[in-house]
Amino acid sequence: MRTFEDYVSDLMKMKNNLYIGGERVGRDDPRIRPGINVIGETYKLAQDPEWEGVITAESPLIGKKINRFNHLHLSPYDLIQKQKMIRLSTQRVGGCIQRCMGHDAITALSICTKEIDQKYNTEYHKRFTEFIKYYQEKDLCAACAQTDMKGDRTKRPSEQHDPDSYVHIVETASDGIVVRGAKISITMVAYADEIIVLPTRALRKEDKDYAVAFAIPADWDDIHLITRPVWMRKRKAIKAPLPEYGVSDSIVIFDNTFIPKERVFMCGEWEFGRRLALLFANSHRHSYCGCKPAVSDILCGATALVAEANNIDKISHIKQKLSEFVGAAELSFSAGIAAAIFGEKTDAGTFFPNPIYANVGRRIMGETIYHEYNILTEVAGGLSVTLPFEEEFISKSTKPYMDKYIVRNPKFSPEESHRIWRFVENIVASGMTAWYQIAGVHGGGSPIMETITLNAEYDYEYRKLIAKYLAGLEPNLDQTKYLKVEPNIK
Ligand SMILES: Cc1cc2nc3c(=O)[nH]c(=O)nc-3n(C[C@H](O)[C@H](O)[C@H](O)COP(=O)(O)OP(=O)(O)OC[C@H]3O[C@@H](n4cnc5c(N)ncnc54)[C@H](O)[C@@H]3O)c2cc1C
Repeated sequence: MRTFEDYVSDLMKMKNNLYIGGERVGRDDPRIRPGINVIGETYKLAQDPEWEGVITAESPLIGKKINRFNHLHLSPYDLIQKQKMIRLSTQRVGGCIQRCMGHDAITALSICTKEIDQKYNTEYHKRFTEFIKYYQEKDLCAACAQTDMKGDRTKRPSEQHDPDSYVHIVETASDGIVVRGAKISITMVAYADEIIVLPTRALRKEDKDYAVAFAIPADWDDIHLITRPVWMRKRKAIKAPLPEYGVSDSIVIFDNTFIPKERVFMCGEWEFGRRLALLFANSHRHSYCGCKPAVSDILCGATALVAEANNIDKISHIKQKLSEFVGAAELSFSAGIAAAIFGEKTDAGTFFPNPIYANVGRRIMGETIYHEYNILTEVAGGLSVTLPFEEEFISKSTKPYMDKYIVRNPKFSPEESHRIWRFVENIVASGMTAWYQIAGVHGGGSPIMETITLNAEYDYEYRKLIAKYLAGLEPNLDQTKYLKVEPNIK
């Protein structure tokens, strides 16, 4: 497995195809370093024997220990380990660990390529298996580029006024395809080795050219990354782990980009557009059952700490508020575990989480995210957003005032008090705050997408049957389909 240093060294060899703030820059640009540090943590943790079996897994494909972010999960146990891995690493970096998107993309492709081959006798699964062996062997990381620019949201891809609103095939040759279009909001692609492209929605026959999936190095010819980094203000004196981390999202432009055949995993099979999009989304919502509880852990911890700094931690309404974090985080985590043990082995061999439990686990966190920030804001007080700059705690003329007045609870020294409020400011009043709030709503699909999945997967007729039986409208109630399903716990 690569070390953090190996990962960074490989990144620095990549071609300059990033654009930030009006300039073309390399991967050594300091504005993307906070995101590199996040991914770096996934490499560091994999070297730590303490987390062996959580951050690492045994790959049957290459017969070696690999990073679990690159593993194709084979059992419910694997999926629960994945949740633990994501919760652990998210806690370490103070938020989104980013590498799960690539993981969910390989999960989806492993299953869908097999299904396309079964229907059309194609060779996508073989190609994908060769790719994944290389990916695991090299310990690469990938961004998942699913979200298209989409154009007019009431129109399908082939109906758009600009055909490039969705990434599509513009040319097919014996050695590969040429694609054009743009994927938006793509996290971590600026510091990923590879980009995995998937369709974003259900497609019809007319949208055939939009049914395309592939993987390609992130600095490949004719790919441009228009990148927006987010980071926290740099610390001068009171260094801490949190402000070392951040994120970058990019618009990924495919400007008549050639994709070699061996990297193409779907090419025109429009009937599988919905299936592939949903496999990614449902796997990603299962990943959220690991990461959103961790975001909740961080907000809960910040609230408990700042309550102590305000000396209100023993007051009953604070305790009641803290319990709200527990309710949401642990319900979501439990839904992830239920999704794992009621998941299913697919024909590809990859074990897939139950979509109902994965979606409800994700949904509860999407619904509570702003509320959780509100609890922290309420308990912290206004200082969380009005805290003077760090320099005022350093400058000789203002330091005595700052040290004197920053202390609310004398149990904490001036520096400890300052650290607490600086941390809270980073959590609730920095550029990262808005990113986490909006990611909490839209990441993995906007809330309506969870509703659509739940309505498609959930059997309302069966619930109506229960009502009819109890009301005396139906003589029989067949419960075997639901309550005889065995959990995968043996
Ligand atoms: C922080 C962050 C990180 C992200 N990272 C990634 C990433 O790494 N990779 C990736 O692929 N994507 C990523 N995304 C994108 C994310 O998956 C999308 O934002 C999400 O799926 C919603 O899509 P959208 O933004 O295009 O909004 P839309 O789908 O356009 O939704 C906007 C609104 O329009 C409504 N709407 C849409 N269509 C219709 C219609 N036909 N009729 C009526 N109403 C409609 C929706 O319900 C919603 O309310 C990220 C997003 C965020 C915020």
